[in-house]
Amino acid sequence: MVRGRTRVWWQLDSIFNDTGPYSFQLQVGRTGLKDAADWKNVGAPVVDGYVAEDPAWRESGYDNTVHYRVVLKTPTTTYVSQAANCFGQLNTRDWGIAQEIVRKERLRNKLVSAPGYLLKRMRYGKPCTRCLDPLTKEITDNDCPECSGSGFAVGWHPPLAMQCWDLSPQMIDEDVDNNVKGNTRNNPYVSARVIGFPAVNKWDVWINANSDERWAVESIKIVAAIRNIPLIYELKLGLLPFSNSAYAIEVGGEVQERTGPTLPVSGCGLIPVDHDYLGPDSLVYQPVDGCPVVGASIYVITQADFDTHGIAIDRSLAVGSTTTRVNGRWASSIKLDPGAYVLIFEKVGEYGPDTYALTVTDPNAELTVTEQNTASAAENEQCDQPISQSESSPTPDDFPKLNKQTRITGNNFFDI
Ligand SMILES: [Zn+2]
Repeated sequence: MVRGRTRVWWQLDSIFNDTGPYSFQLQVGRTGLKDAADWKNVGAPVVDGYVAEDPAWRESGYDNTVHYRVVLKTPTTTYVSQAANCFGQLNTRDWGIAQEIVRKERLRNKLVSAPGYLLKRMRYGKPCTRCLDPLTKEITDNDCPECSGSGFAVGWHPPLAMQCWDLSPQMIDEDVDNNVKGNTRNNPYVSARVIGFPAVNKWDVWINANSDERWAVESIKIVAAIRNIPLIYELKLGLLPFSNSAYAIEVGGEVQERTGPTLPVSGCGLIPVDHDYLGPDSLVYQPVDGCPVVGASIYVITQADFDTHGIAIDRSLAVGSTTTRVNGRWASSIKLDPGAYVLIFEKVGEYGPDTYALTVTDPNAELTVTEQNTASAAENEQCDQPISQSESSPTPDDFPKLNKQTRITGNNFFDI
């Protein structure tokens, strides 16, 4: 599985009754989060098959962070499976026992836990161009506005809401050292008990949803596991100082972007384009008014290519691409040359594809913008205004669900 081939197999739920043919695309990612920015296709789609193989050697460190999921395309719609990790596998009986242990932990959480958000730090990707030492590649700025100290562009995956963590009482031991350090906090740690999915890694951050305190994961202990698959973790958390750039990371619902991380830039054109290109928040992805979408992909296609291939264009022809953060804002700026482009916004299995015609002009010239009808109108009756500025920004849990495509949660249709 590490040096050999990884075989992934799945089955459809017995009540799944869409008509075939079924096209399954295996995807690999590092976090297991649905909205993560790093899901990538592995190999070609498998048609009406139930196994796929990944020939790549993906891990060479200590942490096994690889997750797989399957995207199912039927003639009418698209489904995305829950992610599965590579810690091991459970037979049906063990799976039932594990579910029961986690259910009882959830009951306990209802009574004692604090609600919050989990921020997964990027451990792979494009290195930060601002703060890495050019020779040693060490992070030289723990407060870097581009990567927030992670060393990788964008820095953090979108937050996962409703993470209820049981924090132990904290011992606060503050002191004043008149000689050297000034005020000190000697024991800024608490321990927390959390459910083992998604897996947590060192330097991930947990945000207390009530107080906005942000805690970094210092060490991880598995306190319950079944056949080597972690079910419950006990973590040592360190409180981040309130000046840390981690406090600038958005968790959703912020009305206006706060002063904080600056977007990493990709592409080699002249003009950086992001969600603020036509004015503040003008290009955030909101298929329905007031409901920005997190974890969607944005592809920039030249108008000529789009006219030739249409909405089904191979996304690898895009001149630039990025993903959306919370509040529908872009994860990076894309540098483009002046010209006519079409932006394709889509979140596989949930929203889109929606298109937006964008004319990029020289900064000194006047801007001209035309709006284009959404593609595949039959699928998008509710998406007549793919891009519009919201007056209110609800939290992710308040978003109404589109009914044009079925939303997958849990293992409804797959059992990987
Ligand atoms: Zn940096």
